[in-house]
Amino acid sequence: GNGAHVQALVIGTGYGGSVAALRLAQAGVAVEMIEMGMAWDTPGSDGKIFCNLTSPDERSFWLRTETKQPVGYFLGIPIDRSIPSYTGILDAEDFAGITVYQGRGIGGGSLVNGGMAVTPKQENFGAILPSVDPNEMYNVYYPRANAGLGAGVIPNSWFNTTQWYEFARVGQKQAGRSGFPFEFVPDVYDWNYMQQEDAGTVPRSALAQELLYGNNYGKKSLQKTYIPAALATGKVNISPLHKVTSVSPASGGGYTVLMNQLDTSGNVIVTKEVTADKVVFAAGSVGTSKLLVQMRDTGQLPNLNDQVGQGWGDNGNIMVGRANQIWDPTGANQSTIPCGGIDNWTAGGAFAEVAPLPIGIETWASLYLSITKNPHRAQFSWNSSTQKVDLSWQQAWKQDGITMAKTIFDKINSTEGTIYRTDLFGTYKTWQDELTYHPLGGAVLNQATDNYGRLTAYPGLYVMDGALIPGNTSVNPFVTITALAERNIENIIANGG
Ligand code: FAD
Repeated sequence: GNGAHVQALVIGTGYGGSVAALRLAQAGVAVEMIEMGMAWDTPGSDGKIFCNLTSPDERSFWLRTETKQPVGYFLGIPIDRSIPSYTGILDAEDFAGITVYQGRGIGGGSLVNGGMAVTPKQENFGAILPSVDPNEMYNVYYPRANAGLGAGVIPNSWFNTTQWYEFARVGQKQAGRSGFPFEFVPDVYDWNYMQQEDAGTVPRSALAQELLYGNNYGKKSLQKTYIPAALATGKVNISPLHKVTSVSPASGGGYTVLMNQLDTSGNVIVTKEVTADKVVFAAGSVGTSKLLVQMRDTGQLPNLNDQVGQGWGDNGNIMVGRANQIWDPTGANQSTIPCGGIDNWTAGGAFAEVAPLPIGIETWASLYLSITKNPHRAQFSWNSSTQKVDLSWQQAWKQDGITMAKTIFDKINSTEGTIYRTDLFGTYKTWQDELTYHPLGGAVLNQATDNYGRLTAYPGLYVMDGALIPGNTSVNPFVTITALAERNIENIIANGG
């Protein structure tokens, strides 16, 4: 409540925040977690907590009057629709050159993501986090993260036979015919549950077009893993619909944290002030970077160094669709959970997830989300005239990612005698080059912080999320974010801060 004093305050309830809260609580520290989004624990009038992809309602988007679907067109026709403005689950946050998609609610990105739990190849790790000992990561922290998250691979016999993964088998076959390795990737979806969905013995979730706006049953989001473990310690409290607006040194020691309590229309209903001995910034790459840059440049935390706000990248995200031959249908029934990708990282700088297009009709389309080695990095800066934080990313920089993705898809198109779809992201628009799902950086490890996430100018302040990672992970990022948080918080606890 207002005026309270807490031992540790964690801003955000995504991967970094949940790891920090659990480990601090297990070490005996009382933790207050502050989350701007909703709790997502109460069913709506349809009996479900979350809505699905094909019928987005007010629950779908964070304070928007129209949906902003990543695949926003079909046959070149816009498919976005009006919705009531509400503190919904998926935030499509617009900057000048890019829209950054993020989860809002207790569980952060784990509520809305595809659950792909991918550990980068060890040979690529040095380029991801050069100051981190890879042996420690691959022997201790990646295994700990994967166990805590509950990652597993699709059972092979089911993959090979089920109608729900025809789209992925087409992707596998075509990768092979063009000489690219197809790699199964682990996911945190409960694969046994999905097979029961198929058998009709349990309510459907992945097989009922649930993903971007939440998953009602089978996905092991943080709401089923780290967060209940943290709450079970009895030392953690979570406040949803509270947005942190300021952190500054308190006169008696520790930090003063200001926050706005929101209603579900996004209005501020009350402003609160608490003091905390320690503050963990885990608001995600964008949330943490925005707060830190604003605090530094408006004088609340003036000694934060000039690396704060630097080194932001889009993990090279690029989406594209291909039109298959009539004899290669991808299936009217598609699971929403991806299970594999096409690897051309070393030769071409691209790793392409074979993604579903689960709209319930045969489309003959293959959809891909590529992660590319796009080298561009942007910075956050405080704009005193708008009183907002800007991001310097330029849409034209996506061309590097497109060029890398083309090393895979030009080859596949040539082998198969096929073409790109131009009707999914606009009218005659081939590439989705306006968004990222994987914001990374802004408070890079060992640059903005020490080698464990400490903001050394301010003892007791830490960064613990995707902001630490310098713009790219070569694969989907949440396992790396989780593993790095496990590593950093262990060091911080062991050294008393
Ligand atoms: P987040 O998970 O973003 O958590 C930050 C939390 O802080 C949020 O809950 C936010 O609401 C809250 N917050 C922000 N600002 C404030 C504030 N001022 N006050 C209070 N709270 C605040 N990654 C994968 O590895 N595999 C995938 O399959 C995958 N698919 C994705 C699909 C989509 C559609 C999206 C959007 C992302 C996907 N990702 C995937 C990316 C992954 O979800 C993110 O990398 C990850 O969630 C980032 O973790 P984090 O701990 O850095 O922050």
